[in-house]
Amino acid sequence: MNTTQLSEKNPNLFDLEMPVQYLRGVGPARAQVFAQLGVNTVADLLEYYPRDWVFMPRAVKINQMRPDETVAVIGLVESTDYQSHRRQPMFEAVISDESGICRLVWFHGGYLRDQLRPGQIIIASGKVTLYKRRLQMTNPKFVVLDEEQSKATEHFSGGVYPATAKLGSRQIKRIIRPVLDDLDELVQEFYDKAFRKKANLIARKDAFAWIHLPPDEKKLAQAKRRLKYDELFLMQLGLGLRRYRLRHFSAAKPCKITDEIDSRIRKRFPFLLTEDQNECISQIAADMGGSEPMNRLLQGDVGSGKTVVALYAALLAVANKSQAVIMAPTEILAGQHFLSIERYLKGSKVRRALITGGLTGKKRAELLGEIKEGAVDIVVGTVALLQGDIEFQKLGLAIIDEQHKFGVEQRARLRKQTTPHCLVMTATPIPRTLAMTAFGDLDVSVIRHSPPGRGKIVTRWVDKRDRSKAHEFIRERLKARKQAYFVYPRITAVEQDSDVKAATDEWKNLSENVFAEFKVELLHGRMPSAKKQQVMSEFRKGRIDVLVSTVVVEVGVDVPNATIMVIEGADRFGLAQLHQLRGRIGRGEAKSYCLLLAETDSEIARSRLEMMIRSSDGFEIAEHDLRLRGPGEMFSTRQHGLPDLKIANILNDFELLVMARRNAFEMVRSDPMLATPEHVNIRRALLAKFGESLGLADIA
Ligand code: ADP
Ligand code: MG
Repeated sequence: MNTTQLSEKNPNLFDLEMPVQYLRGVGPARAQVFAQLGVNTVADLLEYYPRDWVFMPRAVKINQMRPDETVAVIGLVESTDYQSHRRQPMFEAVISDESGICRLVWFHGGYLRDQLRPGQIIIASGKVTLYKRRLQMTNPKFVVLDEEQSKATEHFSGGVYPATAKLGSRQIKRIIRPVLDDLDELVQEFYDKAFRKKANLIARKDAFAWIHLPPDEKKLAQAKRRLKYDELFLMQLGLGLRRYRLRHFSAAKPCKITDEIDSRIRKRFPFLLTEDQNECISQIAADMGGSEPMNRLLQGDVGSGKTVVALYAALLAVANKSQAVIMAPTEILAGQHFLSIERYLKGSKVRRALITGGLTGKKRAELLGEIKEGAVDIVVGTVALLQGDIEFQKLGLAIIDEQHKFGVEQRARLRKQTTPHCLVMTATPIPRTLAMTAFGDLDVSVIRHSPPGRGKIVTRWVDKRDRSKAHEFIRERLKARKQAYFVYPRITAVEQDSDVKAATDEWKNLSENVFAEFKVELLHGRMPSAKKQQVMSEFRKGRIDVLVSTVVVEVGVDVPNATIMVIEGADRFGLAQLHQLRGRIGRGEAKSYCLLLAETDSEIARSRLEMMIRSSDGFEIAEHDLRLRGPGEMFSTRQHGLPDLKIANILNDFELLVMARRNAFEMVRSDPMLATPEHVNIRRALLAKFGESLGLADIA
């Protein structure tokens, strides 16, 4: 669209890309406030949806109010008062119109002190009650009106925008209003009539009009549905295109499996692989056998045997004269991977190397040289280290072990170097909703059942009054040469949060008092990496009885003899985290015990702890966690490199999501470049909205 031309014709016409700064009522200062809200252009403003909507009944005069009726009145705020010392703190406003005065009260209404002031004109609606023989409204809904609105004695309804101290909802409303007059020009339709009818979707421009200025609740609901659908559809379309692109526009080296290679690899493992492991391996081998780059997620609880599957894949690459890299989120975990690989590959000709942060200077340069020449087959290290200056001669497979830290971005960056097959491992079971969004461009393999011979884990919620009983219980197990983890939410205590125990203090207490006869050691993330490695290695060898730590044990510890885990301040951890932690025990054949120490009034925390006791199924736990916390908190979408959704919610709008995904993937199949004329509007909108975050620049 050509702005100048349009402006000459009609000065009121806006352009979607036009900075909000040039709108009436916005200048440079306000534009900055808008920028903080993520609103830079007219398009952003149209998508700055109200957070709530009010539909007021028809307003009456104050003297027409009758007890027990639900009505609205428009009046001038005469006075306000906040009584904070009552048993139930109460905010009160007296309003008047030409017919009389009326009292409005809000229990616990302290927050209204910033919103209601004498001199304002408001419309308030609620049920009329009689108090001390006077009419009043208790906890009414209200909207502060501007002058124009206050003259409209008809009914009032509208959106309430997420506002800031510098920019109120009413101002935002006034700024958006004129833009809505130009929706015919601004908003292009995506779908033909037949589809809209079938899918029960209203016109896109009506949706924008009604979301901001809903004529009634039914139309508002229709507007929401359409805008949610579009948002989900564009996201799925982006994911679908990315997936298509990856498969068709870049080539990886095919890594063929033969019976001979397969049996040679299997000989490396001192056990038979489980059915689930075999299933995952055959999916991976099928992917790697082709020239389309594999892009697969391997899911399975801690200890379910993912590393073994990953090593199989790495050896398959090596057998095909390619290099493989294994990237872990932390040095401890990288070290752990390397150790287990060393164990499996003892006496093998496969050349492997661990890159650590401590490796510097000439030694590092030498190793990097060998990797570049192809003299190393398997390289293990942290994501950070391996994303630097390392070059491979022929990288065939990249394995990313993310535990529960995912990163689409990392995957993307690695791929730019070359096009290896890519396997992402995660110990966090991913609920269906997230598998379709955050991981929507990946294929998924799942290990559901852990290898046999695992002891049962008993989980108990222990009252703090029973702490010393718990210590006695643990003492007995320590005497029997078992090992224990004590996990704390913090490294050191902070004053503001004095009831949370901290690792450093408790380590002192446990080593000097409670378990003085045993060897108790401390491990936390701020210790130098060499020291951490040393403590881990001692614990692994059984020379440490009790390991006191923060969540660092969450990753990378595999000590079958450790059968006890005490989690202090368990209410401070998320469910996924608790589940991860617990996965550190129950690795050997003996029965294990997980003791959760927590006091909490929080409903969510209680629900989490009860879930931990009830279930050991990672998928069930993850689904529960998702419900409790919502997708945003559980997995930050930004962390995934996915854009935030503005109106849709992948949990609540799951059915729309499924429909959007089906239709979007269908469109990718039929028109992968979105080149046909009927897809022009969709393509433009997709690039504007998700082009950057989904890396779709190349279809521009
Ligand atoms: P994850 O990476 O999923 O945490 P690992 O691959 O590290 O799991 O395996 C956990 C433990 O189980 C390791 O000690 C490993 O040797 C053992 N293990 C893996 N697969 C099997 C199997 N099929 N049978 C018996 N033990 C297994
Ligand atoms: Mg592992």
